[in-house]
Amino acid sequence: MKVDRRSFLGLGIGAVAGIAISPVGAKLTDDFSIWTQNWPWTPVPPDGEVSYDRTVCHLCPGTCGISVRKIDDRPVKIEGLDSYPVNNGGVCLHGIAGLQYLYDPSRVKSPLKKINNRFVPISWDEALTLVGDRLGELRNDQNPEALACITGSDQGSVPGLFNHFMAAFGSPNYLTMPDLESWLVRTAKTLHGDAYTLGFDIDHSDFILSFGAGLIDGWGSPVACIQAMGNRRQRQATLVQIEPRLSNTAAGASQWIPINPGTEADLAMGMCAVLLKENRFDPVFAQGFKGGFMRFTAMVQKEYPLDKVAGVTGISAADIQKTAVAFAKAKMPVALPGKGRGEGAQNLKEFAAVHTLNCLSGNVNKQGGTFVKPLPKYLNFPDPVQDAVALKGAAAAPLAGSVQELVTRIDKSGESPVKALLVYNANPCFALNDPFRILAAFEKIPFKVCVTSFMDETAMASDVILPVSTFLERMEDVPSKAGLAATVVGLSKPMVKPVFNTRSPGDVVIGMARALGGDMAKSFAWDSYDACLEQVTARIWGPLVRKGHVVLSENPPAGSVETDFEFLAENPVTVKPAGDLEFTLIPIDYFRVPPTVPAPSPFAIKTVSDRILRGTDMFVEINPQSAKNLKDGGFATLTTPAGSVPVRVHFNDGIMPGVIGMVKGLGHTLDNRYVSGKGVNINALISPKIEPNSGMDAAFGIKAGISKA
Ligand code: SF4
Repeated sequence: MKVDRRSFLGLGIGAVAGIAISPVGAKLTDDFSIWTQNWPWTPVPPDGEVSYDRTVCHLCPGTCGISVRKIDDRPVKIEGLDSYPVNNGGVCLHGIAGLQYLYDPSRVKSPLKKINNRFVPISWDEALTLVGDRLGELRNDQNPEALACITGSDQGSVPGLFNHFMAAFGSPNYLTMPDLESWLVRTAKTLHGDAYTLGFDIDHSDFILSFGAGLIDGWGSPVACIQAMGNRRQRQATLVQIEPRLSNTAAGASQWIPINPGTEADLAMGMCAVLLKENRFDPVFAQGFKGGFMRFTAMVQKEYPLDKVAGVTGISAADIQKTAVAFAKAKMPVALPGKGRGEGAQNLKEFAAVHTLNCLSGNVNKQGGTFVKPLPKYLNFPDPVQDAVALKGAAAAPLAGSVQELVTRIDKSGESPVKALLVYNANPCFALNDPFRILAAFEKIPFKVCVTSFMDETAMASDVILPVSTFLERMEDVPSKAGLAATVVGLSKPMVKPVFNTRSPGDVVIGMARALGGDMAKSFAWDSYDACLEQVTARIWGPLVRKGHVVLSENPPAGSVETDFEFLAENPVTVKPAGDLEFTLIPIDYFRVPPTVPAPSPFAIKTVSDRILRGTDMFVEINPQSAKNLKDGGFATLTTPAGSVPVRVHFNDGIMPGVIGMVKGLGHTLDNRYVSGKGVNINALISPKIEPNSGMDAAFGIKAGISKA
């Protein structure tokens, strides 16, 4: 089919074909369970007594309740847990394959120490003593702030323990990976002040304006979002999906609006200008508008007139106007920021501009709208015991506000200001843009400790690996996050004894503190992590244990909320894809290959379409209109300012001309032959670009060229 720009846009403007969305069916879960057991490394269970137990999956920010079928003590199948308030019986393919992670070939089976570039097994005592001695040197040198720590998220008691560790140690350099929740917290902080996050009541909204949020491609709490999309048509709710490519979410939307990559913030600002010009904002909610509102109004009218925004975004002025007005007229509109899964490189200006549409609509803290929620406060850690060294170190200015900023800081210094690094539940050497630069920065840090279950790229770059039990082997609180309207804390429980010589991550932190001794040990006086968990969650511990979860909030937050427009009134820079090549390369978030921790299971890799990965060949999507002398299925060389890779070409009429799409999450080099060496890591083709006002990497895409190989 030949598609010119006009007919291409026609694909999006009309209603496009829907796709079936439903939780994974029972028959399929059986098939998956057979599949996930049927690998050479997985022991075959003997016959025995069948039982079911409940726990919470924490393979992704979705935090779904799951039911685990066991034969004697051996878990053999995972299903969604009926009536769990996040997923209500649904589960995704990763959750079902969760058992595979127990026996995964890349599991770290005991503590390891790197000697002459090879890892050798050591005992827990030896490992913790080694870590205690090396970290202790920093405190002895009165330089505790030279310790940095990176965790996957800052939610829950285990990140809380790492934070507690850093405070007692005396370092302000605690950073988290850029996940959707952290972007939402930053957005809420920018517009509403500290201690808030954002939740979106998409279950009840009648008009969902999504700025690329992959609602069935892994955004937020994936099963919850898929369920909300499943009943959207029954509710007659409209979904307008704005993104450069006809994703699964766009294909199921009421309307798909293609947009030039990297111009989503301009569009949101242009829509704000329409609503302000036409007085289509809620006068009652506007009473809470504070700093900079008048300046913001004047600025968007001047800087974002319709014609200019149309030129930048590639969307007609009429469509921008029509969509903005339809959003304002809806009873329960909600605008969603966060392209794809909403994590990694995004930009604060875009999040803030999109959320400003919610504020103008006035549908905030109301059913079907956006909830500006207080951050969950169910954890109560005692104050750390801080000696003089810790007090001095903790008072130092943080080295950076983001992991990429820290890497830049190390890059630019002859000698790394970070002398020791702890990494937990994060794989920055794979998951962030320009992983080679991150690896080079790692090289400059004298001592790296990775607390992980798997031998991933970051573990391989470390000096010591402290192996932790998987979610099926340990107890932990699991707070919901990532844009859900409700706030739920679940309790994950061990379904099986640790298969290898691993410990709970909480016990690892306590062990490191004890190895340091002195006031550090005093701050971690618990007998075990389980005892710590009971103490710090005392407020909710009883019901948490009895029911397996506690709903902290589900209704719209009470009271009014103030909105500060200073940040947007300053009209911060919009970070655009860097370079001057002909195409724009964008990452595609594909639900089957999560780009973060853990790496996809062998089972998940097997389910990847052969239009994305064939053998080890990586495909990129390109509109046939832009393909010139390329052939569908043929080989090509993809080049960006960061490097060149061989790829194969997949013609797709559903991607905008001039855009190249590549699935994110492939191209691992970790120690797992079922997952490693398959495809290309798109992050290696994108150089980070720090957003001046947030300090975050905002390089969602990059300019690229492609030629026949
Ligand atoms: S969506 Fe996330 S939390 Fe839920 S089952 Fe899948 S991997 Fe687990």
